[in-house]
Amino acid sequence: MEKPNILALSPQELRQFLVELGEKPYRAGQILGWLYHKGAQSWGEMTDLPKALRDKLAALAEIGLLPLVKKQLSADGTGKYLSALADGQTVETVLLPYDIGSGACISTQVGCKMGCRFCASGLPGFIRNLSAAEIMAQVLLVKGELGKRGLKLKRLVLMGTGEPLDNYDSIMAFLEAVQDRERLGMSLRHVTLSTAGLVPRIYDLAGFGRPLNLAVSLNAPNNALRDRLMPINRAYPLERLLPACDHYAKKTGRRVTYEYILIEGVNDRPAHAAQLAALLKGRLAHVNLIPFNAVPELDFKPSPADVVREFARTLADQHINVTVRRRLGADIAAACGQLRNSNLKTPG
Ligand code: SF4
Repeated sequence: MEKPNILALSPQELRQFLVELGEKPYRAGQILGWLYHKGAQSWGEMTDLPKALRDKLAALAEIGLLPLVKKQLSADGTGKYLSALADGQTVETVLLPYDIGSGACISTQVGCKMGCRFCASGLPGFIRNLSAAEIMAQVLLVKGELGKRGLKLKRLVLMGTGEPLDNYDSIMAFLEAVQDRERLGMSLRHVTLSTAGLVPRIYDLAGFGRPLNLAVSLNAPNNALRDRLMPINRAYPLERLLPACDHYAKKTGRRVTYEYILIEGVNDRPAHAAQLAALLKGRLAHVNLIPFNAVPELDFKPSPADVVREFARTLADQHINVTVRRRLGADIAAACGQLRNSNLKTPG
């Protein structure tokens, strides 16, 4: 029989499991405290559990954490972590050391189906969805690493490899665990989900009715260019995507962030900025401009700093809320999926 994975269990299911083992249900609270808040990596570290129970759990249950395969630290504090999954696949997670709140950028799938032309993550193709437990294990990894630096985990972004809304059920189970007071206990106000634009799932998410932040990877102000950069646009063009985002903003009262990766000579011209401003005018929207992180496998280049500034100014002049994301981890191949890709090429 397969051993239960503790990270996959709800507190109620864990209590039930303990009762079945002939143990007291209140032990669940101690175990969850060790896993989610005290950074325990093994049963042996849970020192307020009787030794006999620790031995029993070691034999009968999986703790659910993922072994680390590779780690890269940037001079600016960004950390990239590659963890091994039970089936031999790997998953990449990023520690974000922002002053405004240290956080984790989490992957939601192994590979990705969306095929965005500027993205390293999708290059090796789609392998499989991650489970809610595998997603949570990434959070706990970063929480532990931040703890070693004396920092707290303040926010989560679902912006790593994969399209979160293409793995909807796992994401819903994960978000449940995030906000559950007995598990991570973090408000969804501090969580951002980024999508390439799966319109029906944006409506589902609006129905979820929680204050989760929605970010949409937009990257182009018209369908012709977005079709080229993001094949998903052919299924859900801008005239369907933007009303879905408006609906989300209306239902949740939270403005939608539009992510716009600036690629030299592709989508960074003044005309693109003007078109983007016209598209978003009057919407509950915020634009996050992201200088492209060069990927060796792709021909695209980052827009020069003065072009980025000019693009931001055009938007601001039209009263569009805009920020430019700081480049992080440029010295450690910070575009999502690059650590996993390099590991695929040079195993070990
Ligand atoms: S940008 Fe996101 S959705 Fe697009 S291919 Fe990369 S991981 Fe997938």
